[in-house]
This record gives sequence, structure tokens and C-alpha cells, in this order.
Amino acid sequence: MRGPMRLQAIVKDERRPRDFDPREVVSTWTEKDLLGAKVVDAWVIIFRTRGCYWARASGCSMCGYVNDVAKEVSPEDLLVQLEAVLSRHTGQPMAKVYTSGNFFDDHEVPRESREAILEALGDRCEKVVVETLSHMVRREQLEHALGFVDRLEVAFGLESTNERVLRHSVNKMWGLEEHAKAAALCRDVGASVKTYLLIKPAFLTEREAIEDAVRSGHAADAHSDTISFNPVNVQSRTLVDRLYRRGEYRPPWLWSVVEVLERTRDLTAHVKSHPTAAGKPRGAHNCGACDRKVADAIEEFSLGLRKDFADLDCACKEVWRTYCEAQPFMLTSADPVALIAE
Ligand code: SF4
Ligand SMILES: [Zn+2]
Repeated sequence: MRGPMRLQAIVKDERRPRDFDPREVVSTWTEKDLLGAKVVDAWVIIFRTRGCYWARASGCSMCGYVNDVAKEVSPEDLLVQLEAVLSRHTGQPMAKVYTSGNFFDDHEVPRESREAILEALGDRCEKVVVETLSHMVRREQLEHALGFVDRLEVAFGLESTNERVLRHSVNKMWGLEEHAKAAALCRDVGASVKTYLLIKPAFLTEREAIEDAVRSGHAADAHSDTISFNPVNVQSRTLVDRLYRRGEYRPPWLWSVVEVLERTRDLTAHVKSHPTAAGKPRGAHNCGACDRKVADAIEEFSLGLRKDFADLDCACKEVWRTYCEAQPFMLTSADPVALIAE
């Protein structure tokens, strides 16, 4: 029999090394986003790197990005990726750069590569967004970055402001304190701050997840220009995936996302959500019949094109309410419907 395993070991245990070409970007596409008050085309580029150092050591329980990384990526490889992707720029005024890790980790993205990326994108776009863990950003790096781009936004995956949720569910060790410090640094040098918060990390009931997201949104408001709620989607080879395969995890209902957005409308930061795989079993979903309509409404809300969700309804809203009530009664964060059906 296997002895008791710590959360950190279980998360790592799900990882599988894969062989990817270090000279090919993971992916690139164009999506809508807000630039100031205007809806524009945003160019998303996911560079392939050696990946997030935290994912290598252990990693967050919902994060499958680590499965897209290459073993080693040299500065020359990154340049090849950059050159190839630049030819695909079609005038988008905004670029969002992801690396499946931390843009300001010198071991993952060396200074010279960072400079080349920022210079190329700064020449082409008005605004560039990059992502990093809060404790990995230094003043000197930010000042250097701002030498190449007009408007820089730094995105941080804070996930929750509840230390217990971070430690026992997300498996992330850096909370609001580190986030506030990093945000102050960004703002001090003239960069804006985007904060990612999760909706429904592992082991939380639907109701706990809604309350955690709403509370985290309010706590992070003062340290964010934009707050983006990420409903957890089930990425393969993660702890969340392991729970999902056993019927012990259901991604959040889209109704929960709607409630979180409704209850954080009072924030100063711009509040939004772009659920990944919305309407699919592994993404935030409702009954199937209303998913498209509700997901579209969430998208419109996020782009500032709608103010509330009062016009939306479906018979499954009652099921969602019952679901939220049943979990605490049954003392489980598993899917009550799946439990009963089995
Ligand atoms: S969520 Fe971010 S910090 Fe966590 S393992 Fe994934 S890339 Fe690293
Ligand atoms: Zn429905």
C-alpha cells in the first residue's frame, strides 16, 4: 500500500515529461480585449520555454501548462520563435505574452530574450501584457521593460487571498502580501497590474468557491487595475484532473461565474472573466442548453458591453441552487449529481 502523500508530491506525480521542439511557440491566436475603453484585437503569444520553476519543483494543482514546456530552450531558440511569430502580426494593437511560466524569471527567459521580445512587440503594439509570479519581479527588470513598450501590464496569478486555500487547495505559496508588494512596484514604475483569481479550486464546494472568489476580489481590488476571474478548467495531468476522473471534481457552474461578477461590480478595478472551455465538461458549464447564451453574456460583460445578467434565466438555475445547498449537507465538495448517479 502507498503511504500518505503530501499535496505537493501528488501534484508533481501527475506530470509527464514530453519532447517538444524548443524552436516552436506553443500557440498564438487573436482574441478581443479592452484597450482603455475600446474593444480591440489582442494578439496572444505563448512562447515555449523551460516552463515555470514552481511547476518543476511542485506546481499548482490546476496548472497543466507545464506539460507544454520543452526540456531546455536557449536564447537562440527563443529568437527563432520570436522571428517566426512576428510574421503573423496583423496590426493588433495589444499583445499578451505568456510563457507557461514567468516572464521575469531570468533562468526561464534570459534578459537578452526578454529585451528582444519587448522591443519587437513594443514597436508593433501600444500595449504589452506579460505574466509572472509576484515574487519574481524586480524594479530594475520593470524599468528595463518600460524602455521598450509604451504601456506595460504585468499579470499575476494570485488565485485567492485566503492563505488556507492557497496552501491546501492551489498549492501556491505566495499570497496577498507578495502580490501587494509586486503591484506597488509595478505602479511605481508606471506599469498596470492584472490579477488572476480562481473560481473553484480543488476541494472547495460550489458555495465556498463563490464566496472565496468574491472575498478575494474585494481584498485584491486596491492592488489591481484589472481583476480577471478564471473559472478552473480541468487540464490534463493535474491534481484537478485526477479528482475529475474520479467524479470528485466538477468545474464551476457558469451561474457561479455570473454571481461572482455580479457581486464584484462594486470594485474599482475592471472586473472580467474569460472562461476557458466554457460549456464543455472540462470547463465551466451549466446544463448544456443555456451554456452558449450565458458564456456569451460573460464575454460581453468582460468587454464592457453589458452591465448585468438580469435578463438571463434557465431551468438549470434551480438545479445549481440545489447543488450549492446539497454539497454542505452531504459534507462533500464532490459533484452530488455524479455521487447519486453512481
Ligand atoms: S499556475 Fe503559474 S505559478 Fe502555478 S505552476 Fe502554473 S505557471 Fe507556475
Ligand atoms: Zn441551463
